[in-house]
Amino acid sequence: MKFSGTNVLITGASRGIGAQIAKILASYGLKVWINYRSGADEALKVKEEIEAAGGKAAVIQADVTKEEEFVAAVKVIVESDGELAYLVNNAGITKDKLALRMSVDDFTDVITANLTSAFIGCKEALKTMSKKKFGSVVNISSIVGEMGNPGQTNYSASKGGLNAMTKSFAKEAASRGIRYNAVTPGFIQTDMTHELKEEVKAEYEKNIPLKRFGNPSEVAEAVAFLLSDSSSYITGEVLKVNGGLYV
Ligand code: NAP
Repeated sequence: MKFSGTNVLITGASRGIGAQIAKILASYGLKVWINYRSGADEALKVKEEIEAAGGKAAVIQADVTKEEEFVAAVKVIVESDGELAYLVNNAGITKDKLALRMSVDDFTDVITANLTSAFIGCKEALKTMSKKKFGSVVNISSIVGEMGNPGQTNYSASKGGLNAMTKSFAKEAASRGIRYNAVTPGFIQTDMTHELKEEVKAEYEKNIPLKRFGNPSEVAEAVAFLLSDSSSYITGEVLKVNGGLYV
């Protein structure tokens, strides 16, 4: 895959899907900025693995729910590399509970972590990428934002909002040469799904046409495509990576 830009920031890349996105984008020749909130050792491990494979990587700490920290991180990158060509808004959390037991704080915490943080990133990307009239952003959403899920009213609202926000940014930014897309993974093997009980996992697997959970690398390859020159005429798209669970 060909990339006209040189670097990428991936939020929440110390583990899980974000870490795999970092490794795959580095393998395509991009310098990757691995953002983490608290997992400094894990982020350094990802950096070392990339460098051992001959790639370029740097780590950058920021809690992306805090506007001043996210903005400062983007500033550091632009000062260091002269540009931010690509952004992947991947950081996300769950706080699952049935709606009747969910507090307003449980609801807004997830909206802030999954949607407001991505708004800050999309806006900063628009500002800095406008200067070069080039850039591409991918937001990591979820199948749950498309089909809903019991116990996840907060999470589904955050991801449904992220899909809609991606389309609005795509329309605002197209004239500046910047593309915005989202991917909606189904069930992927990471710490987030590790918490599910075995019987619950088995029940989900029964309903997935491809009969298994996905791997982080299967999401990462879709992200690479949407960032790359290969998708130059695609913007405002929400790409499903779900093994056929929701079509
Ligand atoms: P994960 O294994 O729990 O990793 C989450 C990552 O996000 C961690 O690196 C964490 O860093 C970081 N993070 C959380 N809040 C942050 C903040 N405020 N600032 C900076 N970093 C923050 O999750 P995952 O499964 O890889 O999920 C990644 C993305 O994919 C999420 O947006 C999730 O909603 C989405 N997704 C996952 C699945 C799935 O099945 N796993 C399915 C659909 C969508 P720290 O450890 O430093 O906090």
